[in-house]
Amino acid sequence: MVKIKIKDMCFGYASTPILENVSVDIYGSSFVSIVGPNGAGKSTMLKCINKILVPDSGDIHIDGYNLKNMKRIEVAKNIAYVPQSSNRVFPTTVFETVLMGRRPHIGWFSNEKDIEKVWQVLEEMGIEDLALCSFDELSGGQQQKILIARALAQDTGAILLDEPTSNLDIWHQLDVMENVQRLVKEKKVAAIMAVHDLNLASRYSDQILMMKDGKVVSAGTPAQVLTTE
Ligand code: ADP
Ligand code: ADP
Repeated sequence: MVKIKIKDMCFGYASTPILENVSVDIYGSSFVSIVGPNGAGKSTMLKCINKILVPDSGDIHIDGYNLKNMKRIEVAKNIAYVPQSSNRVFPTTVFETVLMGRRPHIGWFSNEKDIEKVWQVLEEMGIEDLALCSFDELSGGQQQKILIARALAQDTGAILLDEPTSNLDIWHQLDVMENVQRLVKEKKVAAIMAVHDLNLASRYSDQILMMKDGKVVSAGTPAQVLTTE
């Protein structure tokens, strides 16, 4: 089970400070929601954990290894990242999109085991019927599931999700949350999700980090966080 330890992390774009002294411990098999208004720093925090961005000070340890010393490929073997779907267009089939998740392990050449893994993940997400569809022609809800499937194929101890529900109707929002909750339980992974809806987060996640202006202002179980709000 993955252990993510964030200590006194600070990050700024140019001279503007965004994250200020963030310290958080996340231990495997937990559904953690990072909740806060737009601009709170949720995306920035996920990007630091995935080393898309590098903090100005402080440390992030993944299973005891300092992220600073980990190569891109090592990060990708430990942490998968589900971007906001609105940002992405893949000129590929669903199957090929999910197979991309295997790349940190295999490079460009897939073998039978990778193909099997992709089918397994598609079945787990209930989207095997879409395998040969073109990613771009699917609905937002379906695309979101495929991006989660791609992260699952990556076979990591932690999955980061950036506002996966933001462009979806309420039914697809619940569907995504239920899927993530189930994956955490069945696969024993840590899921860390940026989300702006406290209700949605409280209903499904184990832990909530409330962020405001780049700081974690409250952390704990949904019940703990709701009583301090
Ligand atoms: P959230 O995900 O909570 O909406 P973000 O992490 O995206 O918040 O953004 C936090 C702050 O950082 C915001 O004020 C945003 O405008 C700013 N910001 C985000 N990306 C950049 C960037 N590339 N350059 C400068 N400022 C940025
Ligand atoms: P996200 O929340 O995934 O970062 P946004 O829609 O907030 O998506 O931002 C889209 C892109 O613009 C991201 O790459 C983000 O880093 C960048 N960005 C956001 N806010 C700013 C800003 N104030 N200045 C410059 N770039 C920004």
